Amino acid sequence: MLADSVARFRAAYREHDIPAHYSGALNLWITFGGGAAALLACLSQLDGVTRAEWLTIPAAFLYANLVEYLGHRFPMHRPFPGLKLIYRRHAGQHHRFFTHEAMAHEGPRDLRAVLFPPLLVMFFFGGFALPAWWLLATLASANAAWLMLATGIGYFLNYEFLHLAYHQPPGHWMTRVPGVARLSWLHRHHHDPRVMAQRNFNITYPIGDALFGTLERPRG
Ligand SMILES: [Zn+2]
Ligand SMILES: [Zn+2]
Repeated sequence: MLADSVARFRAAYREHDIPAHYSGALNLWITFGGGAAALLACLSQLDGVTRAEWLTIPAAFLYANLVEYLGHRFPMHRPFPGLKLIYRRHAGQHHRFFTHEAMAHEGPRDLRAVLFPPLLVMFFFGGFALPAWWLLATLASANAAWLMLATGIGYFLNYEFLHLAYHQPPGHWMTRVPGVARLSWLHRHHHDPRVMAQRNFNITYPIGDALFGTLERPRG
């Protein structure tokens, strides 16, 4: 049973915020199909990668983890001037649609409240990945720049997969992928309205949370 406040918010969100033409299946295809195509396009740019250039992958992974952490901790949970839409979409909608007591979506149209909207894709890729791509292409090499972008896109796909798995109904095959149960436990705790602005800002792997002291394992 959903709490009344969540049930009311879900009904209003479905009525006013999900466009009539919205298709969850199409959103999935654009996210994962478009992401995979962009990833392959980056990889196709590689040419004779050196050993040092391969090290871009772990460095870009850590960079992506910190961007995920900081982006989620600050603009997604605090209303910054010029970024209030991001705050509204995340803290005002995602967190009211899903609480720690109501983590599962109830049908494909609800994916509108789970998957990254274009606004957030533009914020993260335009604000963090493309400047890093330009910097590496200018100061290091084209291979390093493309490997960084490919890692960023791969990270995004992994993020979307995990976050979608956390909001699937119990028993769904995604929830049984090894590692998902433990990670979803941390994200469920983040969805508790009492701690959402303070704890567990990594949605994938809690590296940023461990570094900045905001990791909290729920009791019980
Ligand atoms: Zn969530
Ligand atoms: Zn959040």
